[in-house]
Order: sequence, then C-alpha cells, then structure tokens
Amino acid sequence: MVNDAASSLPDPGATSHEVLAHLQSGKCTTKALISEYLNFLETTGKRLGAVVEVFSQSALQEAEASDARRMAGETLGVLEGIPFTAKMNICTEEGTTDASSAMLAGFEAGVDATVVQKMRSAGAILVGKSSCDEFAMGASNESSAHGVVRNPWDESRVPGGSSGGAAALAGAFGWAIHLGSDTGGSIRQPAAFCSATGMKPTWGRVSRRGLIAFGSSLDQIGPLARDAKDCQIALEVLQGSDPLDATSLSFSESSKEPIRKIGWIRQGFGEGIDASIREQVEAARSILEKDGIEFVEVSLPTMAQANACYQVIATAEASSNLARYDGIHVGKRLSSNDLEELYSSSRSSGFGAEVRRRILLGTFVLSSGYIDAYYGRAQSVRQEIREEILSALDDVDALMMPVSPFAPFKIGERIDDPLALYACDILTVTANLAGVPAVAVPCAFDNEGLPVGMQWLGKHGDDHRLLQLASLWQELNDTWKSVPQGGQS
Ligand code: GLN
Repeated sequence: MVNDAASSLPDPGATSHEVLAHLQSGKCTTKALISEYLNFLETTGKRLGAVVEVFSQSALQEAEASDARRMAGETLGVLEGIPFTAKMNICTEEGTTDASSAMLAGFEAGVDATVVQKMRSAGAILVGKSSCDEFAMGASNESSAHGVVRNPWDESRVPGGSSGGAAALAGAFGWAIHLGSDTGGSIRQPAAFCSATGMKPTWGRVSRRGLIAFGSSLDQIGPLARDAKDCQIALEVLQGSDPLDATSLSFSESSKEPIRKIGWIRQGFGEGIDASIREQVEAARSILEKDGIEFVEVSLPTMAQANACYQVIATAEASSNLARYDGIHVGKRLSSNDLEELYSSSRSSGFGAEVRRRILLGTFVLSSGYIDAYYGRAQSVRQEIREEILSALDDVDALMMPVSPFAPFKIGERIDDPLALYACDILTVTANLAGVPAVAVPCAFDNEGLPVGMQWLGKHGDDHRLLQLASLWQELNDTWKSVPQGGQS
C-alpha cells in the first residue's frame, strides 16, 4: 500500500483501460484520479485553450460516490471512474453548450445528449467541455468564440479542427475519453495533428440527439482517446439505436474475421500530399506487411471531386440547420422594431465570419436557378463516391491513406485563406460522404517532431473491425504512447 496518494497515480500517458485496471486494483481512489485530472485541465488544458469549462465540484462529488460504490462491492460500469469531456456542441446538463459561437453564448441545455447519458451510465465522470471551431466548421480551431487552441506538440501550431480541444487534451495526457463530432474529418484530422486516436463511427451508429447540427447527413459523434482499445470501449458504450434519434441504428460487423487485406488508396498519396506524410505512411505499410497484412493498390478517381462535393452538401445542410438561429426562437437577439432588421442584425452579430460564409454558400447552392447545377450535381457525385468506395471494399477489408495532406501548421498561417483551410479536408470527407466508419491513429513524428496520422476506412458497420486493426498497429508501433514534454504542467 502506497501512502503518498500522488505517487500511486497512473502515468500521464496511461490509457483509460490501464486506468480502469489501476482503479480496480486499488492503487488509487477515483477521487485522487479525478482531482489530478481536474488539475491537468485547469493548468495545461486551459493554457492550451483546449478546455472551456471544468466541472470540478460535480466531478469530485461523482468521484466520491464512485469510490463508495466500489467500496460497497456494487456492480460497476465499464468506464467506472474514467474522466470524460464533451465538445462544446454536445449538450450537457451542467454548464453551457454554445458550439463555440457568440450566437449561443451562455446557452444552458439543461439536459444531457444521449451520448453523455450513456457515458455517465457506464460510470464515466464528466469533467469539462472542450473547445471547437464555431458550429464545428473549421480545421484549425481558430474560429472558436473561446479563442485559439494550441497544439500540445508545438504551441505555436494549430491542433486541427473542429474537435481541436478534445484532440489537444487527448494528445497531451491520458486517462480520459473525449467526445467529438466529425462531419468532414473533425475527429480524425485533429487526432492526427495531436497524436491521438480518433474514431468516426458508421453514420447512424451513435445517437446524435443533443448534438448541435451542422450537416445532418454527414455528422457523427465519436471518441478521441489515447489508443484504439479506449475508443473500442467507448464505442461499445456510445453505440446503438436511440428512440430519440430516428437516424440511429444498430449495426453488426460484416465479418468476425480480423482485417488481413487492405486497399492502398492511390489518390491518398498523390499530388498535394506532402512527401514527408507519404513516406511515414509508407513506412507504416511496411511494418504491417511484415506482420502478414496484404496490400493491394486501389484507385478511387472520385476522390478528386470529394472535397468540392462535400463543400456543397455541408454548406447546404448548414444553411438549413442554422436557419433556426433567428434571434427570436433561438440564439442571440439584437433589439429592433423592424423584423427584417432584427433577423439580420442578430444573425450578423451572432455568427462569426466562417459560419456566415458557409451560410451564404449554402443558401446560394440551394437557391432557385442554381440548385440543380450545384446541390443536385453534388448529390449525384456523392452517390458515385459511395458506390466507388463500397465496390472497392468488396475486394478488401479496409482502405488506407493519410489523414491530413500536411503537418500541423502555424496559428494564423491559413486563417485568411478559406480555400487553404478547406484543403485540410481532402482526405477525410470521403468517409463522411459514403457514411462509412474511419479510424485515425498516430503513425509517426516527422523530422520537426510533429505528429503524422493515418486512417483506415471500412465497410458500413465494421467499426470494431477497424479498431481491432488499429489495436494491432498500436501493438506493432508505439508512436501513440508518447506524450509531449511539459504537456502535463
Ligand atoms: N474541416 C471540415 C469543415 O470545415 C470538417 C468539419 C467537421 O467535421 N465538423 O467543414
């Protein structure tokens, strides 16, 4: 028995499943664990700008209650005592849920999203809310009303987006599960930038009740954590059909067999993808080949259209979803005697520049005279993308490519160039357009010490098979184990 409570805490980079074992064996109490995690959020989490709200009081109370349940020998949840955070666009009973937008400043949902309820029922403890791009629109976390988020590996760089806060926390420190959302890459791209593991489940696998909508045919909630096993445990908890989300479904895997044959997506290694990213992912391929995984070249020509298609569909859906923030029913209101003026002044002052740009683009592509040329065409391209991916997956178990075409860039470097920011999404949007699951894992660090990520896409429902493959990779390669120096204080 160790007397000094602090000396018996898990290592800073420990996974949630290691922490579960640690708690089970009585090496520390849940209260000691949670207070140390709260300390991390208040120091590093706040310094990085990654956490917006920390729920110290309720988290410590829940930790005490959890310790009491453990002492009493009660049946414990599968995530008993594990800290978790929710992105600012996921409703929680405590605190605010403003989607990092001035439009929803101070909005208290007062109820938990289904995913938050499920995490709590599994014994996990909500410790805070993570920052994100405004309404989850972005790839650098520079559009949050709560300020920029810094990459824990180089604080002059972006953490990716839009779940940049969640990824920065997962990259900097272990122990916890972070709930993010992915409409066009927002779990995977920041995970890749921060050296975390992130999973975008099959569309519909996880309830979206309580998620502030961006692009409803693309949005999906998923976990970010240290490793694939953590994501697997979290997904088991999160998944399943929800009577309060008519788009949610239960899925089963296409096969029980582990993944042994992978399609190497040629377009993921072509023009526009930095050489250092290509080389690192190629090196990962060799490691997997040595373990007996078979690779075949796959060509997905529709990937060239995927980003344009995504920008049309995502902005169209965003303009429709965000129409509700009219200053009357929902959202910030500026007073005026004239209704038109009230709408326009409330909306122009509540929404930031990027959100306004998306609403304008989305309204344009849906407007009469243009809808067929833009939205209609994007829908048929989306169908082609989906068919191409599914037919490629007839011959292989999974598809592989990098997550981001380049390494994490400097804060401010791309912010004035929307197209340079949209270029971040070229490799991630395909999975959302096709609705298939995709998992991003740390692959290596480049010669500047910046994280490089890679991803696998699978058949609808093959989420756990993908996570098993990711776990195999994480047994063969320990890049994911690193935590940044100084990240803990
Ligand atoms: N970066 C993409 C965008 O800006 C994806 C956002 C997301 O997945 N929420 O639209």
